[in-house]
Amino acid sequence: MRNFLAFCFGDPNAPPEVSDAYRTRQFQEIAKQLPLSALGTYVIVVISILIAFQTHQHIGVIVVCCLLQLVIGTANLLVWRHFRWRAATPQNVARRSCWWLSADLGAGAFLYGVITLCLFDALDANGRAILTGTVASVIGIGAWMFSPLPLAGLLWSFLFCTVVGVGIATVYWQDYGILAGLLVFYGIFLVSGVLLSSRRFVAGLMAETEINRQRQLVSLLLRDFEENASDWLWETDATGVLRHASVHLAQAAGESPGALVGRNFLELLRALTPAPISEQKAVLEPLTALLKEGAPFRAAVVPVWVQGQMRWWSLTGKPQFDSLGDFAGWRGVGSDVTTAHLHHLEMTQLANFDPLTGLANRHQFQQQLASFFPADGTIQPCTLFLLDLDNFKTVNDSLGHIAGDELLREVAGRLRAAANGRGLVARLGGDEFAWLLPGNLPRTSIEESHQKLRQMLSEPWLHQDYSIAMHGSVGVSFSPADASAAADLMRCCDMALYAAKAAGRDALCYFDPVMEAQAKQKLGLLSDMRESLEAGDFRVYYQPQIDLDNGTISGFEALVRWQHPKRGLVPPSEFIALAEDSGFIVPLGAWVLTQACHDANAWPLTLRVAVNVSAVQIERADMFETTLATLQRTGLSAGRLELELTESSLMRDADSVQSLLRSLRAKGVRVALDDFGTGYSSLSYLRSFPMDKLKIDRSFVSILDEANSNGGATAIVQAIVQLARTLQLETTAEGVETQAQRETLSQIGCTFGQGYLLAHPMASEQVIPFIERWTGERVASMADLSTPTPVDMPR
Ligand code: C2E
Ligand code: CA
Ligand code: CA
Repeated sequence: MRNFLAFCFGDPNAPPEVSDAYRTRQFQEIAKQLPLSALGTYVIVVISILIAFQTHQHIGVIVVCCLLQLVIGTANLLVWRHFRWRAATPQNVARRSCWWLSADLGAGAFLYGVITLCLFDALDANGRAILTGTVASVIGIGAWMFSPLPLAGLLWSFLFCTVVGVGIATVYWQDYGILAGLLVFYGIFLVSGVLLSSRRFVAGLMAETEINRQRQLVSLLLRDFEENASDWLWETDATGVLRHASVHLAQAAGESPGALVGRNFLELLRALTPAPISEQKAVLEPLTALLKEGAPFRAAVVPVWVQGQMRWWSLTGKPQFDSLGDFAGWRGVGSDVTTAHLHHLEMTQLANFDPLTGLANRHQFQQQLASFFPADGTIQPCTLFLLDLDNFKTVNDSLGHIAGDELLREVAGRLRAAANGRGLVARLGGDEFAWLLPGNLPRTSIEESHQKLRQMLSEPWLHQDYSIAMHGSVGVSFSPADASAAADLMRCCDMALYAAKAAGRDALCYFDPVMEAQAKQKLGLLSDMRESLEAGDFRVYYQPQIDLDNGTISGFEALVRWQHPKRGLVPPSEFIALAEDSGFIVPLGAWVLTQACHDANAWPLTLRVAVNVSAVQIERADMFETTLATLQRTGLSAGRLELELTESSLMRDADSVQSLLRSLRAKGVRVALDDFGTGYSSLSYLRSFPMDKLKIDRSFVSILDEANSNGGATAIVQAIVQLARTLQLETTAEGVETQAQRETLSQIGCTFGQGYLLAHPMASEQVIPFIERWTGERVASMADLSTPTPVDMPR
């Protein structure tokens, strides 16, 4: 019963507002139809009275019932009017009103039942048939009309059918028993029909309530979103005109919400886009296309210029359609993504460009290069240039990193100018640049470009008090002629660059397959070297250094030799550079140092051993420790060891080399500057680097011969010796081959001499016999002293 009542008059378990709303809607649904039912009542009343007066039967009962019906019908009209009046200020209908309305309709049904029975009695067979049909329709229509309020519908159907059915069954059981039975069935059908229909009505109400609830929730959320979120909503009609502009959208556009509504959205964006018309089109083209296409889109980024500031908006949009499926406009969300977009731009810039020079970086270059070699195997021809500055390291080391950076920027600018917008210019790292061009450039054009580049680079760059002209080596390779893969083309170009560097300043070299063979050979040599060091195939030879004043031996220079298992004795000129490039010089140099210290330990205590040290070794952080440890291990006193360094070693990292040399000298190790005269021969080096000796390069000594000497050479060597003496440095002349050279050097005041005239480098076991034989000879007869064994090789 409780459930039934809940069903009839809203759910009492439901929140009051829901229950009240249901009841009100049920009441309203019936109240709407009351004028129609009142009209029906009046018609029926008139017809019934007419029939009563014509047949002269049951007039009293019919008239009373009809009058009562008129009262009910009129009351219903008043209820309807009352409801209409109240509808302006909607209020919930009380439960009581529903009870009254149901009772009222039930009473009407009862009276109709009585009137029907009276008329049935008064009419003939034909009249009864018409009456039965009419009554059945009236009951059916009423049941359907009143079903939204189940109690009303049920009372109506039940009372009407019961009164008529029971009446007919009682009075006319014989003749109309079947009709009475049919009426009972009809009543049962109507009752279940009413129940079903009212259930549907309530279900509809529930669905409607849920939709309303959701709609309210959505609008609540939207309002909250518009008020609190930084994002904003945009909505246009089918013509693209803004229908709604939230405060946030207005703020973002720098306008008032009122000024935005009614404006075409795309026009608004166009007005806010900073670029000139042509570019503006390009910027907004993707968005225009998306809007035209009518497909939903996400995160379309557009630049806008708002109140003197460049901003970036991200727009998301979805087309809207009306109930007929016709396009009704756009709705979407927009947000200001300026910070994120600028961050993204910055990341892209960092990922693709070299921050120092602004040129493309290695990453972008590699991507561009790879695009010439698509995965489908169709190679797009291209030309690759690699440029390496010849003298950058010197500038960087001597003027400092800041000047080096400035110089790189300057070179980048000149390269860009030389490329003149053709191809991609990139900085691959350090002082290495690349220029990648589509197609295979003819050699004449390459040489023209190279000439132009040389000119541009050689134009002096003024930095503080310095005027610096740059030089660069260039390697060139072509695809597909040289390589059919990006990495291979790069390798070929590297080999060409290597060859160009070897060829000397400002050279240009094309890749040649021979280079590849040489590179392979070098690789083979390198692995052989590693094996040989382990197998003990390296030897140290010693060349004496003689005091030019009294002819005594001051020491020996250690010179490495490679006893290759297949190639025989390999001279240093063939493997030292490779060992230096590959870093193999570090273990090899350490081995030479150990060997030399070990061998020298067996010599008379007055003799020193000079060991050549490469720049790569000097750069190692453990050079100091390695040297001291070697001395300790071999037992040689530090004062008997002399390290020979070239100028290039000093120039790497001036400060750390200086402190290394200072520490070594503090321990007693001597330092000699090798090959003096071939490098920069800078006076400032001689002054600032702690050292003990200058070794005058063979090239100066060789021109001291009487026959060749023009006096100039002697003057140069004399100046060097003089300079060394001023700086309190000893001097050793390298490559003394003739007696004349020796005599000149002696006259000039050069301290020591070393060369084939005095002795060729010799194996370790020949040193002691050599020393023994040597001490028995005088300086004058030095030339007669035959070399113990002809072990030296041509340089
Ligand atoms: P370097 O330090 O200038 O060594 C002197 C070179 O001149 C030696 O060549 C020596 O054999 C050669 N020589 C000596 N007297 C004469 C002469 O009268 N006439 C001519 N034409 N040459 C003479 P070598 O042994 O072939 O060494 C070549 C270079 O290889 C060395 O030049 C040095 O730079 C490097 N080297 C040799 N051994 C080592 C080593 O153990 N470590 C390092 N880092 N470099 C080494
Ligand atoms: Ca040397
Ligand atoms: Ca030398």
